[in-house]
Amino acid sequence: MGRTDYLDKLNDKQREAAMCTEGPLLILAGAGSGKTSTMTHRIAYLIREMDVSPYNILAVTFTNKAAKEMRERVQKLIGEGVNMWILTFHSACLRILRRHAEVLDFGRDFAVYDPTDQKTVVKNICKELNIDTKKFTPSYFLGIISHCKENRISPKEYNAIYGTDFKEQMVGNVYERYDSTLRKNNAMDFDDLLLKTVELFEQNEDILEQYQNRFRYIMVDEYQDTNMIQYTFVKLLADARDRDGNVRRNLCVVGDDDQCIYQWRGADIRNILEFEKDFPGAKTVKLEQNYRSTANILAAAHSVISHNKGRKAKKLWTDAEDGKKIIYYNADDEKDEAYFIAGEINRIEGGSEMKGSGDYRQFAILYRTNAQSRTFEEALSRRGIPYRVLGGLRYYDRKEIKDMMCYMRLVQNRADDLALVRIINEPKRGIGGKTLEKLRTLAQVRGTSLFDVLLDDDVISSFSSKVSENLRTLAGLIETYGIEQENMKLSDLYDGLLVNSGYLKALEDQHTVEAESRIENLMEFKSVIVGYEKEDPNMGLAEFMERIALLADVDNHDSEENAVTLMTLHSAKGLEFPYVFMPGMEDGLFPGWRAFDREDGLEEERRLCYVGITRAKKRLWMTSARMRTLYGRTDYTRESVFLHELDQNLLEGDGIYERKERREDGLFRDGASGRTPIKPFDQLKYAQAQTKKKAAAMAAAAAADFAPGDKVAHAKFGEGTVLEVNGKVIRIEFKDQVRKLALGIAPIEKL
Ligand code: ATP
Ligand code: MG
Repeated sequence: MGRTDYLDKLNDKQREAAMCTEGPLLILAGAGSGKTSTMTHRIAYLIREMDVSPYNILAVTFTNKAAKEMRERVQKLIGEGVNMWILTFHSACLRILRRHAEVLDFGRDFAVYDPTDQKTVVKNICKELNIDTKKFTPSYFLGIISHCKENRISPKEYNAIYGTDFKEQMVGNVYERYDSTLRKNNAMDFDDLLLKTVELFEQNEDILEQYQNRFRYIMVDEYQDTNMIQYTFVKLLADARDRDGNVRRNLCVVGDDDQCIYQWRGADIRNILEFEKDFPGAKTVKLEQNYRSTANILAAAHSVISHNKGRKAKKLWTDAEDGKKIIYYNADDEKDEAYFIAGEINRIEGGSEMKGSGDYRQFAILYRTNAQSRTFEEALSRRGIPYRVLGGLRYYDRKEIKDMMCYMRLVQNRADDLALVRIINEPKRGIGGKTLEKLRTLAQVRGTSLFDVLLDDDVISSFSSKVSENLRTLAGLIETYGIEQENMKLSDLYDGLLVNSGYLKALEDQHTVEAESRIENLMEFKSVIVGYEKEDPNMGLAEFMERIALLADVDNHDSEENAVTLMTLHSAKGLEFPYVFMPGMEDGLFPGWRAFDREDGLEEERRLCYVGITRAKKRLWMTSARMRTLYGRTDYTRESVFLHELDQNLLEGDGIYERKERREDGLFRDGASGRTPIKPFDQLKYAQAQTKKKAAAMAAAAAADFAPGDKVAHAKFGEGTVLEVNGKVIRIEFKDQVRKLALGIAPIEKL
C-alpha cells in the first residue's frame, strides 16, 4: 500500500477537506456524506503526511461512544496505537483542570460531583436556610444553577440581575452557598468543568498560550450542537498567534445545521451558521454525496427537511440504487405495531438479504421517548429476538417503575422487607440510615417483618415528630390498601398509591426534564395495567405482580453483543444501521405535543425526524397506531405531520392518503402541504390530572356521610346499598354479594 492510498477512498471534496490543514475550515454537509470519515482521514493525513505529532492534535465530540469510535477509526488508518486527545468536551476539560487546579484555588485532586452529590449539597443548604424542600426541590435549584453556569452568570451577577422578589432572592442565596460549598469541598460539578476551564484560559494568558501552542490542530464534530460555553472554549484555543503575530487558527469544525437537535439544552445553531463570520478567511467545504443510504431513503429525508424554513438550502445526491420504498404500516394499536416490527425483523433476518445470518446488530428501533420502549421489549422477547436498550435502562429496570412495583409488592405482601427498604424513603420522608437500622434491629430481635415494627406505635413515637408522622402515614397507606386491594380495580389501586404516597407530587415539583421523563414512564405503567384489566377484569394484585415479574425477568437483553438496538432518536445521532424502524409517527408523540408550543419547536422536531431517517442504510420502516393506549388512556391518533410531508411516491404499504379520505374530522382534506398543524391533545398532562382526580374522589368518599340505606356505586362491583357504617369500615350489599370496604380508598360514590 502506497503512503497515501487511504486517501484514494475519499471523493475529491472529502480529500480536499482532509488535506486542507491550515486555517479555519468548515465542513458543512448533510447526513451520511462522510463528515466524520473526512475528519478521521484528516487526522491520519496530519500525522502520516504532515509529520504532525499526535500530541498537537485535539479532537472533540459529544458522546463517549462517538469518541471511542473515532479513536478506533484513526488507529486503523495510521496502523498503530496512538495516545491522542480524541475526547468529549467534558473529559478534555477535566484533563486540563487536573493540571492547573491550584491556579483556580482548587486542589489538584478535586472531586467531580455527580447529580446525586449535587442534590445532597443543595439539600443541606435548604436545611440551613429553612427552605421547605417539598415546595422547592433540590432539582429545582439545580436546574437554575446549571442554566446560569451554561450562560456564565455568577451568583453575584444573578443577585444583581434578579433578586427582586422573594423567590429569586432565595434562589440567589442557594446558588451562592452552593458555589462556596463546592469550593470549600474542593469539588466541581459537570458544568464547572467547562466553565472553570474557560475561566482558567481567560484569566491566565500563559496557560492559554501553552495549550494554544500544544493544540495546533483542533477539530470538533457535530459542531451544530455546541452551546455558548463550548463555543467559547473552542474559540479561545483556536485564536492563537504564531511567532510573527499572525493569527493561526487551525480549527476544523464539522456539522450539519439540519441535524441540530439540542436547542432545548442550549445548543446554538448560529455557531455553525456564523462560522465564516467568526473566523475570517474560513474555507467552507460542502460535501454533497451521500454514501450511507439508498436513493429512496435519502429522498424521503429530503422531502421532510425541506419543509423547514430557516435552513441553508442543500441537497444530497447518491449513486446508490433506489432501493426498496419506505414501508409504512398503520397498525391497529401499539401492540400490533410492536408485533409488526418484531415480525419484520424475523422476516428480514430469514429472507434473501440476510439468509438467516442471525446478525441482529443490523437493526435499530428509534423512538421519540423512552417510555415507548416497553412494547418493543415485550414483542421482541416473545419472539426470542435479542435486544439492548442503548443509553437507557430496560423499562422494568427504571427506578420509578421499580419503586412503584415495590409499593404494590408491599401492599400484596407486607412481609416483603426488601420492598419496604426500597420505598421507605422514596419519595423523601426524612428517614435516614440510622432510623432504618433501628427498625431493622428491632425486626430481627422480634423475629417479625419490618412492616410489623412500623405498626408498633411505641417504637414509632421514639423518633422525631416529623419522622414518626411520616412513618405512620406510610404504614397506614400500605395497611389500608392491603385490606382493600381485592375490592379495587388494579388501575385505581395504582393511581391511589402513586398519589397518596406522594411519589407523583415529588416528581412534579422538580420541574426538570429528567423528572418529566420519569412521570411519562409512570403514566405509561398505567397502559400495562389497563392492558391486563381488559384481558381479565378480575385479575388480582397477586396474579398481576406475578405476570409482571415474569416480564421483567425475561433476559433477551444483550448488553454488548448481537442484538437489536433500541434507543431514542436523540441518542442515534452520528450512528448508522442497515435496517431502521421509526415507530410512533403520530402528532403529539412525534412531533411531540410540546413542539406546538414553541415557534421553532416543530422545526427542531423535523430535524430530529431527518436525523432518524438518515440513520438507515438499506431500509426504513415507519409505523403509527390508529389507536394508542398512552398513559393508560386509549385514544384515536392522528398521523404525524411528517408522514404527510414525506413524498408519498416513496411510501408503500398503508397509504396515508387513502385513509385520509375516510376521515370525517376534515383535518387532512387539503392535502399534505396545505395542512396546518393543530396542537394535539396533551396526553401526559391529562393522565396526571386523571390520576389525581381519582385519588381525590377516593378521599372525598371518606368524608362523605354514608348512612344505612344509601344507594352507592362502586367502580368494580357496580351499584349497591349501604348496610352499615362502622368507623372506617362500610358494609355494602351489591347485587350478588355483601362486601366490607375501607372508607377513604374504596372507590364508592353516593348516588
Ligand atoms: P452524520 O451526519 O450522520 O454524522 P457523516 O457525514 O459523519 O454522517 P459518516 O458517518 O462519516 O457520515 O459516513 C457515512 C457512511 O458513508 C459511512 O459508512 C462511511 O464509511 C461511508 N463513506 C464516507 N465517505 C465515503 C467514500 N468516499 N466512499 C465510500 N464510503 C464512504
Ligand atoms: Mg458524523
